[in-house]
Amino acid sequence: MRAAIFHENGGPEVVRVEQVPTPEAGPGEVLVQVRAAAMNHLDLWVRRGLNIQTTMPHIGGSDIAGVVSAVGDGVDAGRVGQRVVVNPTLWCGRCRECLRGNEPFCEKLRLLGEHTDGGFAEYVAVRAESAHPIPDTLSFQSAAAVPVSYQTAWRALLTRARLRAGEDVLVLGASGGTAIAAVQIALLAGARVFAVTHGAENVARLRALGAHHVYDRTHEDFSAAAFRDTAKRGVDVVVENVGAATWKGSLRALARGGRLVTYGATTGPGGETDIPLVFWKQLEIIGTTMASRAEFQAVLAAVTSGAIIPVIDTVMPLARAREAHERLEAGGQFGKIVLVP
Ligand code: ZN
Repeated sequence: MRAAIFHENGGPEVVRVEQVPTPEAGPGEVLVQVRAAAMNHLDLWVRRGLNIQTTMPHIGGSDIAGVVSAVGDGVDAGRVGQRVVVNPTLWCGRCRECLRGNEPFCEKLRLLGEHTDGGFAEYVAVRAESAHPIPDTLSFQSAAAVPVSYQTAWRALLTRARLRAGEDVLVLGASGGTAIAAVQIALLAGARVFAVTHGAENVARLRALGAHHVYDRTHEDFSAAAFRDTAKRGVDVVVENVGAATWKGSLRALARGGRLVTYGATTGPGGETDIPLVFWKQLEIIGTTMASRAEFQAVLAAVTSGAIIPVIDTVMPLARAREAHERLEAGGQFGKIVLVP
């Protein structure tokens, strides 16, 4: 089969499309013929070389939709031909947290496409229970946009930050796939949404999605603007993924008792925390990553019903995988970049 693969860590130039052996469905697995696979920032971190155990050479790709083409031992052969989207979360099932039914806190949490070979290829073998059926009405490209971004944003806002209808939410970096998902989920939850982005085009796109206040970070200080537009109260929830460049402003933008929820640090891990601000305003700083099975199913149901329509930036053939890496790295995208084998 053809796969976008790299044999060493580095820039986008290490990504090549090559012929590799087609995987087989092992016991408890299904083989998925990939019809669409979306990119995440995670793919860039893995390509650059994180301090994690990954396969090398490595095929990236954690967001996969396709058709079951074969099943391994112990899997219902009736699944062949089924349209599916893959949940890439690989809980160990054996650690203390998994045994307590606390899977999102799994001590050996791994991700398909990060710790294992992923879906930037014509085929990928996955655990049968990770392949969720999707209806004919949902396109492969839309389905592939869902797993990492939409489940992360769903858990971040609804479970971890406990967002309620009528609250004010500020979403940073709102041109990336997960931040856009956060904008959409916050709107669905009945929140008033404030978004920070760059460029007139992105401002217009976020307004079209329904965001109530959109700030262009190149023209104004977002925390001052959020204060102005909440009558100097601040927002109830900030969704952070930018990290070092925005952390201080994100904390300043919060109302008393506000919650900052973070799932990423694209601009770097250091961020200045004004500690008196945290205790005086009784702020909460909350981390989150991926989601539970129930959260994945809830967000998939919201997409399947049409309540949320995933935002796709570009669809490219797998042959242009290197270019897809370059586009995501440049940060000019709005929504998900999807590769089609
Ligand atoms: Zn575990």
